[in-house]
Amino acid sequence: MRDCLFCQIAAKAVPATLVYEDADVVAFDDIQPQAPVHVLVVPRKHIPSLNDLAPGDEALAGKLLRVAASIARARGVDERGWRAVVNTNREGGQIVFHLHLHLLGGRPMFWPPG
Ligand code: AMP
Ligand code: ZN
Repeated sequence: MRDCLFCQIAAKAVPATLVYEDADVVAFDDIQPQAPVHVLVVPRKHIPSLNDLAPGDEALAGKLLRVAASIARARGVDERGWRAVVNTNREGGQIVFHLHLHLLGGRPMFWPPG
């Protein structure tokens, strides 16, 4: 999608600190990190939110989790712990309407979340 920020990052039309990419998925550092490790894992395919996952997207959705886990390992937070967050729509706190998984780690996380 031409006017989608994360599509543009995936296409390298907008710069970001890429930490992983393959044919399906791109991961980059969040520009406003909320933890020492804050990486966004996004599908190259433009899917606005979890609400828009379609039959056939299961493998792609699962891959976001697997890539996040492998980045958590690479960043050294897998053993101590980390959090995966997917904000969905207004009350879920979603600001960018291209599906993305937040990988947060490197500090204690609290529950309930804000
Ligand atoms: P969400 O609130 O779940 O939609 O999260 C959007 C995230 O995108 C926020 O954590 C922002 O800090 C992050 N973000 C916005 N613009 C950029 C950018 N150009 N590069 C990297 N992260 C960004
Ligand atoms: Zn997009």
